[in-house]
Amino acid sequence: MLCRIEINAQALTNNYRVLQAKAGKSVVIPVLKANAYGHGLKESFAILKKESPPWIAVNYVSEAEILRDLGFKGRLLIVGPAVERGFTKADELELDLVVGNMDLLKSWANRPGKCRVHVKIETGMSRQGILPEDVDEALAYFSEKKVTPTGVCTHFANVEDVTDQSYALHQMSGFETAIAKFHAAGFTKVLKHAASSASSLIMDSSLFDMARVGVSLYGVWPSKLTKVSYLQLNAKVASLLPVLEWKTEITTLKKVHVGQYIGYGCTFRANREMDIAVLPVGYNEGYPRIAGEGPAYVLIRGERCPIVGRICMNMMMVDVTHTSKNLHVGDEVVLIGKSVDETVSAGDLANWSKTIHYEIFTKLHPDIPRVIV
Ligand SMILES: *Cc1c(COP(=O)(O)O)cnc(C)c1O
Repeated sequence: MLCRIEINAQALTNNYRVLQAKAGKSVVIPVLKANAYGHGLKESFAILKKESPPWIAVNYVSEAEILRDLGFKGRLLIVGPAVERGFTKADELELDLVVGNMDLLKSWANRPGKCRVHVKIETGMSRQGILPEDVDEALAYFSEKKVTPTGVCTHFANVEDVTDQSYALHQMSGFETAIAKFHAAGFTKVLKHAASSASSLIMDSSLFDMARVGVSLYGVWPSKLTKVSYLQLNAKVASLLPVLEWKTEITTLKKVHVGQYIGYGCTFRANREMDIAVLPVGYNEGYPRIAGEGPAYVLIRGERCPIVGRICMNMMMVDVTHTSKNLHVGDEVVLIGKSVDETVSAGDLANWSKTIHYEIFTKLHPDIPRVIV
């Protein structure tokens, strides 16, 4: 591909340390699902392993297998849906599975094996988990079969989109009801975890034994409101540093005359003489097609260059008329990142595309080379 993703090793290490310091005694579990949020699973692991994280979380057993093959000997938490046919592989890799339905909890309890289970509690998201009132039934079954669950966990539905955390506190009380049942049944050493990035940053009471931290590890705030909430609680903002920069190059420079159209659907017509640069990145590579509806910009030598016309599968066109400097084929173009004094963040691209930075990251094509810098 004619673009690359630069992964800043220092930034990733910094963020891990900042988040672990913030979490205090709670253990930060770096979440490396979705190809490490587009940052590259192998590359991100190569950087993080120097910090010896005791736990890593991924979504799939297949992702855990890659990490085992790369030599990771720590604990691997599978946050994605567990399925019965995944148990054998999970035994082999000695994984920690999150299990959120009664039938599967019982079939786990009924079989000898090396994989461990974290019981997911449904507290308000209607996605995964057994209800707090059904916990007794599961625990009675575990006692009868003489097996011990390793963890108990839940997930917040609405921390990122609000500054008033009453819904999360409501979820927390359901979680605490479940925890009390574990303790009462004698499962006193069970590991408790609920927090992801936003809650770990702004709700200390959500930290419990471990915090599953994804997006902030990559140096971005889960949302603007999370940052605002953080500043209401802290004197200054946590120093999270963006880890990823996405860069490409100019492949063609051309003149477009008054009246000429640019791109599919002839949605853009030049009303002045224009200099256009063609870039070898389109929606296949992960640049959102909707961004072509504008306004959206790329950076060339520190200047914002607007995208003109629709974004194609593997190409896009940008207006470089205003850049006074002499541009050349092969010049660097920044799609996400910094160029001289200008920055386009993943959040900017998400705003222009009516989505969230999480989706921008995960749509970056896996074949784009990830280069550690
Ligand atoms: C993805 C995920 C996380 C991490 O969320 P961030 O907001 O990226 O920190 C935590 N827990 C679960 C269950 C997840 O699926």
